[in-house]
Amino acid sequence: MEYTIAKDRRSLTRRGVLWLGLKCDIKCKFCYDENVDKKDKLWLPLDDAKHALEKFRFYYENEYVDFMGGEPTLHPRVFEIVGFCASIGLRPTLITHGMHLADRKRAEAFKAAGVHDFLMSIHGIGENVARLHGRDVENFDRQVQAIDNLNALEIPIRFNCILIRDNLCDLSAIVELAKSKNVKIINFLTFNPYFEWRSAPEIPFQARHSEIMQYLGPALRLCNEYRIEANVRYMPICQLKGFESHAFTGYQLPYDVHEWDYNSWYDRGLNGQPSHEWYYSASAEQKARHSYIHTEKCQNCAARNICDGFHAQYLARWGAEEAVPYSGELISDPIFYIKQQAKHEYAKGSAPFPARAVEFGPLANITQFNGTDENRAGVRVNLPATRRK
Ligand code: SF4
Repeated sequence: MEYTIAKDRRSLTRRGVLWLGLKCDIKCKFCYDENVDKKDKLWLPLDDAKHALEKFRFYYENEYVDFMGGEPTLHPRVFEIVGFCASIGLRPTLITHGMHLADRKRAEAFKAAGVHDFLMSIHGIGENVARLHGRDVENFDRQVQAIDNLNALEIPIRFNCILIRDNLCDLSAIVELAKSKNVKIINFLTFNPYFEWRSAPEIPFQARHSEIMQYLGPALRLCNEYRIEANVRYMPICQLKGFESHAFTGYQLPYDVHEWDYNSWYDRGLNGQPSHEWYYSASAEQKARHSYIHTEKCQNCAARNICDGFHAQYLARWGAEEAVPYSGELISDPIFYIKQQAKHEYAKGSAPFPARAVEFGPLANITQFNGTDENRAGVRVNLPATRRK
């Protein structure tokens, strides 16, 4: 992977995201899509995917894209989509449970199609994985085989790990796995009560931030020791005391090159790369969109202008007693803490400069931007009957 280690500066992300559809062959405990009606779990047609990718590349000038599912490796035209993506200079990542890559031939086919890397969902270790996946199909063994296949093919891997009660004991072992398999980046994601979980007051597997930190703290220490980049997403900054350089709330996400560009993610319509000021206001909109709120304690916190605060559901469940405001001068630079993180940024590659002056209509009919609170492209409700396949 063509990485450079950056410190004291941060680049704006140039990464788009495209949901290829919500079909999946496991049932993760925390899945957002479990309650989506089966008839809406459709694969995005190839031509629509191409149109969206061209818009990402030639209008938004993105250089990378994440393919989301469901399980995107199961899309019937996935190799054509990946190949098209690579051909226009948009480097493709698949966010995957990875188990189908245990098949060496399938991994080789992704390599041949031009995949850039895989972001593997590693939520646990050993037998715990089958429990988390809700289906016992030699889950962890296949994931490890997949990692070995990708390493043999020199396809980079990053890890995603959702933080819930059921996997906290595995966090340090996940870091050890990453180290042993040459994985350089791990994203730890607080479980977000979005979508179908939004109105659930008592989610049994949801953990308090303080409970998570008993396990995440040692795991982050290990990451630092092993020089693994650890990004903790959606946790209030003060919950990561001593680890603030790893804290990525909605205000820091535009400066994580492994995260999504608010401009193309929501099809906001600004050609190319908007200004830092635009991303700051887009971050504030994201905070409101996802129901994060500042508590009373936040009102006097020096970090309040660069921190989302707590999720409304979280506060309703547990209150704000964990909040620990920062004293001192008001901080207004979103990268104030994260610029201290040693981050793997992409070295400038040889992707062709966008040259096509094509009119691009809105993505609303291709992806699922049905309302301001939606962010899962690829789910198309009210699809004409002829397209329901
Ligand atoms: S006190 Fe509030 S604003 Fe300050 S870091 Fe904590 S959650 Fe964020």
